[in-house]
Amino acid sequence: MNYSHRAYLNTLEILAWQQRNPRAADSTPACPRLPDWASLQSRVAACTACGLHSSRTQTVFGTGSRTASLMVIGEAPGFHEDQQGEPFVGRAGQLLTAMLKSIGFERSQVYIANILKCRPPNNRDPQPEEVAQCTPFLDQQIILIQPDVILAVGRIASHYLLKTRSSLESLRGKVHSYSDRQIPLIVTYHPAYLLRNPIDKKKAYVDLRFARTLLQPSGASTNGTIPLSAQQTLSRTQT
Ligand code: SF4
Repeated sequence: MNYSHRAYLNTLEILAWQQRNPRAADSTPACPRLPDWASLQSRVAACTACGLHSSRTQTVFGTGSRTASLMVIGEAPGFHEDQQGEPFVGRAGQLLTAMLKSIGFERSQVYIANILKCRPPNNRDPQPEEVAQCTPFLDQQIILIQPDVILAVGRIASHYLLKTRSSLESLRGKVHSYSDRQIPLIVTYHPAYLLRNPIDKKKAYVDLRFARTLLQPSGASTNGTIPLSAQQTLSRTQT
């Protein structure tokens, strides 16, 4: 294990596997101990690493299947999420649920999390120091889930996950790669944006279909064709 790898594990508070008796060495490579859900969840619940802890009602850890093939990552809890302790509830959450259903996923089949675990006051953008303090938790969630595809919703999540400042529009329609784990990552609009700009729902649906093709062994392309039933599902969601 090189220094940078060990430093990364230390940052995440992951204990590196250490050999008890070097003289008993064999050729088996060292394995880091994986974080576990219970300790991760309790560390998030007790976290006071940035100023957002003082104004939160509760932390918003994440929800869904811990063996999900698809992981959805958004920005930060809003008012309803802060109240209920679950990401993507309220109208934006209903729309996300409809979007997932339109590509064949129940909400419970994916894992949904945010960059930040506490609500920024008045839903302002996360500050760089808040992102720096909080994202090791998200990184550990990704390590535990090992999703096949990540769907980044919105500008803030996309910028953090891809380490870029490019416009969201320019990031759409491509298969990106998340970190050195090289997890395929697709960018789309945040549901809250879509509530304000319903005309872009069709573009979001194309993005989701694109992500869906990456999860299908056939890799079948949708060519951007939107079935009428799915369009109706999305347009029925209140805007
Ligand atoms: Fe801790 Fe993240 Fe909440 Fe800040 S936003 S207090 S780093 S859990």
